[in-house]
Amino acid sequence: MTYLEGSHVLEPDKTLECWFLTGSQALYGEETLRQVAQQSAEIVDLLSAGPEIGVRLVWKPVLTGAEEIRRACIDASSSDQCIGVIAWMHTFSPAKAWIAGLDALRKPLLHLHTQVNLSLPWDEIDMDFMNLNQAAHGDREFGYIETRMAMRRKTVAGHASDPTVRARIGAWARAATGWHASGRLRLVRFGDNMRDVAVTDGDKVEAQLRLGVSVNTYGVNDLVAEVEAASPTTVDGIVDEYERSYAVVPELAKGGARHDSLIYAARIEAGLRSFLEGGKFTAFTTNFEDLGGLRQLPGIAVQRLMAEGYGFGGEGDWKTSVLVRILKVMGSGQPGGTSFMEDYTYHLGPGEPKILGAHMLEVCPSIAAGTPRCEIHPLGIGNRSDPVRLVFDALPGKGFVVGLIDLGDRFRLIANEIEIVPPDAPLPKLPVARAVWKPAPSLSTSTESWLMAGGPHHTALSTSVAIETLEDFAVIAGVELVRIGEATTTEGFRRELRWNQAYYRLAQGLAR
Ligand code: MN
Repeated sequence: MTYLEGSHVLEPDKTLECWFLTGSQALYGEETLRQVAQQSAEIVDLLSAGPEIGVRLVWKPVLTGAEEIRRACIDASSSDQCIGVIAWMHTFSPAKAWIAGLDALRKPLLHLHTQVNLSLPWDEIDMDFMNLNQAAHGDREFGYIETRMAMRRKTVAGHASDPTVRARIGAWARAATGWHASGRLRLVRFGDNMRDVAVTDGDKVEAQLRLGVSVNTYGVNDLVAEVEAASPTTVDGIVDEYERSYAVVPELAKGGARHDSLIYAARIEAGLRSFLEGGKFTAFTTNFEDLGGLRQLPGIAVQRLMAEGYGFGGEGDWKTSVLVRILKVMGSGQPGGTSFMEDYTYHLGPGEPKILGAHMLEVCPSIAAGTPRCEIHPLGIGNRSDPVRLVFDALPGKGFVVGLIDLGDRFRLIANEIEIVPPDAPLPKLPVARAVWKPAPSLSTSTESWLMAGGPHHTALSTSVAIETLEDFAVIAGVELVRIGEATTTEGFRRELRWNQAYYRLAQGLAR
């Protein structure tokens, strides 16, 4: 099997579920409540009918009183499988009954505003129908209390049979799975960050408070010990996989003059994977300034582990590694990929301006067009033997890059919508994997905005996650997200940054 036949697609976690809570009240009597239950189950079936919502929706019995609402919200909050809650007020559910529950809810919330019937039965409609189908005002009552309580949530309106409605819920459900992964994310840093670099630094305690991520440093020689201890059988298996999956250059292939370098690269991969699995880590960083007893800077090993779903950031950049991991989870099972990326250099003309993104070595083959080549070249940095790496162009398509910065009093996400395009010409002398893209709305507006926002040089690039999911994630996390897209103007963006500055300072004391 070649790499692109699907081995890079991170499998979605099938055990995850999203709870569907229906609100009503006892006033209507048993017969009506029986119909409410039946109709809300129908809605769940309709929502589950299409492929849009990637997690299992779990229907819960209709809620009519404050105590059972509170209990349902506490149960959802304490369930390890539950990634979020969808609430729908089928009928009028007096919202004071929701205060204790919403106060206890610690999971992402989506308010679905819908009804079972698509059309009004104009000729037959009577007061029984009116009595049963009143989400139009039931959901308004619920929206009021959500707003009064400053609940962070997504609101989606429309019929459950509408693919757009399901897609918007699906985008949120993916964001909620990213949040679920974020709260369990253990990141290992091999060494600290690159000396004197500002943007890759940050407050790890705040990151754990805000995103749930646990970020800890290990000495790189702890990794070296695992690398040295890797069994020859495991290493041979990985070498075989390289030869099966990639176009390995003759000097690295079996019988080639530098085959030993490929074996050592495979040994690094075996050691890294075993270290990550042993510590239940799902993201990591390396730093070329701190390689201890490693004989090569990890290249192909990092690339392949990223493709398996691990987060990665170069030069100790744990914030970008966190982002890569979260996006990997949110994009699982979807076409496209996600990679660690760095804005490297520009093509300013002739023709449309473009960004050439790459890194010293570590770009994820999940974004590759075609079969990557496995090559070895010198690397001026790091002071070690020549590292083995996968080289490829990125597959053209739409996506975004996103960076995470620490502003001192809070985190900010900066995203830019992009279109990956083929390079204007082949890049025969560039010995690293790369992506060429057009940033929206133009290179000048994009970069002016990015710089005004303080956006980093390291990003996570994704073609498998919708920007709506990123937006939903930011809402769930309560982290500022500024988006640069087709509609962005430098002036408008400057104003948005200013307003946000005021808003987030105020909101830290007000919103939850
Ligand atoms: Mn870098």
